[in-house]
Amino acid sequence: MVLHRPSPVESTPLRLEEVETPAPRGAEVLVRVDRCGVCRTDLHVVEGDLPPRLPAIVPGHEIVGQVAALGSDVRSLAVGDRVGIPWLHSTCGRCEFCATGRENLCDQKEFTGFSVNGGYSQYAVGDEGYVLRLPTGDGAHFAPFLCAGIIGYRALKAALPRPGGRIGFFGFGGSAHLTMQLAIRQGYDAVAYARDPQHLELARKLGASATFLSGGSSLEGRAPTLDGAVVFAPAGEVVVQALRATKKGGTVSIAAIHMSPIPAIDYDRWLFGERCLRSVEANSRADAREFLDLATRLNLESTVSVRPLAEANDALRDLKHDRVVGAVVLDCSQA
Ligand SMILES: [Zn+2]
Ligand SMILES: [Zn+2]
Repeated sequence: MVLHRPSPVESTPLRLEEVETPAPRGAEVLVRVDRCGVCRTDLHVVEGDLPPRLPAIVPGHEIVGQVAALGSDVRSLAVGDRVGIPWLHSTCGRCEFCATGRENLCDQKEFTGFSVNGGYSQYAVGDEGYVLRLPTGDGAHFAPFLCAGIIGYRALKAALPRPGGRIGFFGFGGSAHLTMQLAIRQGYDAVAYARDPQHLELARKLGASATFLSGGSSLEGRAPTLDGAVVFAPAGEVVVQALRATKKGGTVSIAAIHMSPIPAIDYDRWLFGERCLRSVEANSRADAREFLDLATRLNLESTVSVRPLAEANDALRDLKHDRVVGAVVLDCSQA
């Protein structure tokens, strides 16, 4: 599914096309894609909020598949290995950020499905050093782990309150539904905020102790009760809601790559008191390994619906309009 010109997803900007199977070079591996998750970032790329860095691009960065061919320098992977290709495609390895364990901030990093072709396709190419080994099992189960899970985990770490504290999840989609399970299984009390009642129903099923419809009047005038919060919704006003709900000393972390402008914040009321507001940019490979390990040990469940690759436009439209409960994943094996 190829994007030539970003436009509103209602105009079906992705086209099903026949393209040449890429040949892996050097440290690259060719992966036959089984499933590819649909992430909100794909929607930002397709609609042009994040202008794609190739004139024609295949989106998708939650890729689960099998190694089908190896570049000449590949040593650690073999044909047939089960792998995932995540959002972080590669980094320079030399800059000040790469040299200090902060490769997620590298200015020369490449992104799957944004600066190199991604997984809305039968085949995708990954770099040996950045491809993640995955256990066997249902590919649709693992697909949302590869961005929604890993980046949610990084945001959660940034916001974690004192042990046993209460943490709020603002916007309850693919990322929050995994991240909240992590928090609960590590002993935190979790509260979910979303604008769709079905999303809150899933949050309650997964263990949220309380849920709130955001945008409703029920949040007005409430005393802050959260020790930390993660904002997943790409809407600036939600950041203010999260700050208002967070107690002194708490951190609000933002797990969004794109955000509408944040309204003015009353410093004296909502930021003073050592509240901390921070963003999260991509993830390091260490985050990815830690998350995949925790996801296995803590038995995270992903709630997914699977659609054929050719329905990528429809899947993105449903995501845009809050009609996806949990995550949506494309079946790329039948294309
Ligand atoms: Zn770098
Ligand atoms: Zn993503």
